[in-house]
Amino acid sequence: QPADSPEDKPRILLMGLRRSGKSSIQKVVFHKVSPNETLFLESTNKIVKDDISNSSFVQFQVWDIPGQIDFFDPTFDSDMIFGGCGALIFVIDAQDDYIEALARLQMAVTRAYKINPNIKFEVFIHKVDGLSDDNKIETQRDIHQRSTDDLAEAGMETVHLSFHLTSIYDHSIFEAFSKVVQKLIPQLPTLENLLNILISNSGIEKAFLFDVMSKIYIATDSSPVDMQCYELCCDMIDVVMDMSSIYGARDDGAFDGNSSSIIKLNTNNVLYMREVNRHLALVCILREDSFDRQGLIDYNFMCFKKAIQQVFDVRKQVASTNNSDGRA
Ligand code: GDP
Repeated sequence: QPADSPEDKPRILLMGLRRSGKSSIQKVVFHKVSPNETLFLESTNKIVKDDISNSSFVQFQVWDIPGQIDFFDPTFDSDMIFGGCGALIFVIDAQDDYIEALARLQMAVTRAYKINPNIKFEVFIHKVDGLSDDNKIETQRDIHQRSTDDLAEAGMETVHLSFHLTSIYDHSIFEAFSKVVQKLIPQLPTLENLLNILISNSGIEKAFLFDVMSKIYIATDSSPVDMQCYELCCDMIDVVMDMSSIYGARDDGAFDGNSSSIIKLNTNNVLYMREVNRHLALVCILREDSFDRQGLIDYNFMCFKKAIQQVFDVRKQVASTNNSDGRA
């Protein structure tokens, strides 16, 4: 099945100077390490391929490439590394002087773009937990300005960079990863549409389709994302996963095909979580009085689940008949 072979999976590259926070990001997002434990991580100085596709719907690899790699070193196989890569995340330590990092970013982007112009370039302005709100905005403005100036000078003004303010000490790193991953999902508009239909017919305020293992949301309805609401939904996943790993009947202890879970908040809101498939779950927030019609919501959810199944079945068929991936 070509769609399932690791080399065909959309690949995300994580790059940046040494100590910028790459391994910490990878550990916190994909391996449930708590942010404080990253203080003792050993710094990486080789390429780390981290294939998380068995436990996560999001089938990608994080390649931790230490800052001091010389792109012109013949042992650095850029064709292979950038060729199959969907997104390049470049991590910049915002608490440190970033001039050197910007030079590296410029080099990486130039090199990668020549090999693969379809790469999405994502800059994580990282460790912003140490910055005041004003400082965050100013740093982002400055980094944006300098990096786009550098690109323009190199005659590459058509290359688009996206910027995200991130920290492993809050949900911003998950939010940023969600945005990055969503750009690599060709079915995103269909998923958004299905979520819109679901919420408008069920009296739901906001719904996220989550990759349970990483807490990345791969889609949401088109109403704006409120950070607090996203955090509540992430916390719910943590609670449910912890409960099911303690009390779950199955060996892997996980949430299974028919699991559901309800949390009533004292704000008259309800958090409702339903399993969609092995990796995905719907988490939504709604008013308590809308939840009185749970039968309707559950019926609509079953229709939604079927539709999601079809969306991904089509993807598999396309992938196996073309013998290439269905990604645009
Ligand atoms: P790498 O060499 O790029 O892989 O960097 P590490 O992941 O080893 O991180 C270097 C240091 O930065 C560690 O001590 C981390 O605890 C710290 N760090 C990583 N992310 C953050 C963050 O978001 N905020 C803060 N304050 N420190 C961070």
